[in-house]
Amino acid sequence: MPDSKGKTLLLLKPRGFCAGVVRAIDVVRIALEAFGPPIYVRKEIVHNSFVVDELRGKGAIFVDSEDEVPNGERVIYSAHGVSPEVREHSARRGLRVIDATCPLVTKVHVEAVKFAKEGYSLILIGHHDHDEVVGTLGEAPLVTQVVGNPEQVKSLTVPDPNRVAYLTQTTLSLDETKDIIAALKQKFPNIKGPAAQDICYATENRQVAVKEVASDADLLLVVGSENSSNSNRLVEVARNLGTNSHLIDSYKDIEAEWLIDVKTIALTAGASAPECLVEETMKFLATKGFDNVQELEVMPENVRFGLPPEIVEAIAAAPASATAGSRAWLIESVPRSVPPASFSSPLSTTTATGAANSKPTPHSSPITSCCTRCWAPATPLASRKPRTGSSSTKTKTAAGASTPPVRQMSAPR
Ligand code: SF4
Repeated sequence: MPDSKGKTLLLLKPRGFCAGVVRAIDVVRIALEAFGPPIYVRKEIVHNSFVVDELRGKGAIFVDSEDEVPNGERVIYSAHGVSPEVREHSARRGLRVIDATCPLVTKVHVEAVKFAKEGYSLILIGHHDHDEVVGTLGEAPLVTQVVGNPEQVKSLTVPDPNRVAYLTQTTLSLDETKDIIAALKQKFPNIKGPAAQDICYATENRQVAVKEVASDADLLLVVGSENSSNSNRLVEVARNLGTNSHLIDSYKDIEAEWLIDVKTIALTAGASAPECLVEETMKFLATKGFDNVQELEVMPENVRFGLPPEIVEAIAAAPASATAGSRAWLIESVPRSVPPASFSSPLSTTTATGAANSKPTPHSSPITSCCTRCWAPATPLASRKPRTGSSSTKTKTAAGASTPPVRQMSAPR
């Protein structure tokens, strides 16, 4: 029984899984179904302990380095990407690589190579020890320096201050990055940046949603793992706005004292946190009286990425027990969209019939593609528009003149 009544839970949208995470998890799941264990995964496929444990339970073997993968075995690169050195090393070892690098991370790699070839010194804005930064840095290690705050900009030295370019990690704080870029522009007035900002749509949208709602909440909870950069940034954004905020791996991390005198909680999730953990948190908070659940959609988000070629080929080689119709649909569809989470691959003969009978609706959403490593058809990044939302959905102004669309919900039972 709830111990008090009338408390509100604001559920932010968009929240949770981004397109890159959905794709990476599907890559591991399908690889396990298609090829069977062992499937090795270099680093955490995405930075979420629940997701990693679940895939480990299905037979994935997580390793820190390609060195730990036996010669000739299959290895999946995580969504955060790898350096060319890792690719070369894997090739020398005869490893069969499946690349689940998020296409938006690959975009940053491509930019790094381009700037380096054109003779620029590169400043990579990001966290030194993050897997993504390690991978991007590896594209042009001799000309790249990593900075993580405006202070570090002061001590930068480059051979030619008129030939400097910057790039950023995809999961940074928008505000902090803005300050670092301002410091860079002050130090190197002719500095070049990427054509479109590197901070990805999912990172930006989740931060914008927190900014819109933080002032309406006494407490903002972010579901996400400690090593998830974008989840940590959401906590920072709320705290910078004066709202008490905590990162939780699951509802079990919620401390009783956080809820003292709290009437309204806002709840969101980082891009690698699954919705089931959000639902469990809602259930728990309902027992604490937060049973007036309102979902606030700050902006629409509908981005999907295609699967890597190795996985598309595996699906194309599905056993004959899968019907011709189903296989034809898969072969046609997967380069444009990943199968929905509920979809069971016909690669397993036991699910072939069900899959054939439950053809998912093809996605009509915008597809983002940026380079030859990305399997999806090319659509210019500039055509992506989830960042600002549409007038029909993002209605809450900075001055609070109107409110975002609200959907009344019941806490999950
Ligand atoms: S957070 Fe952004 S860059 Fe990272 S996997 Fe998701 S979409 Fe890709």
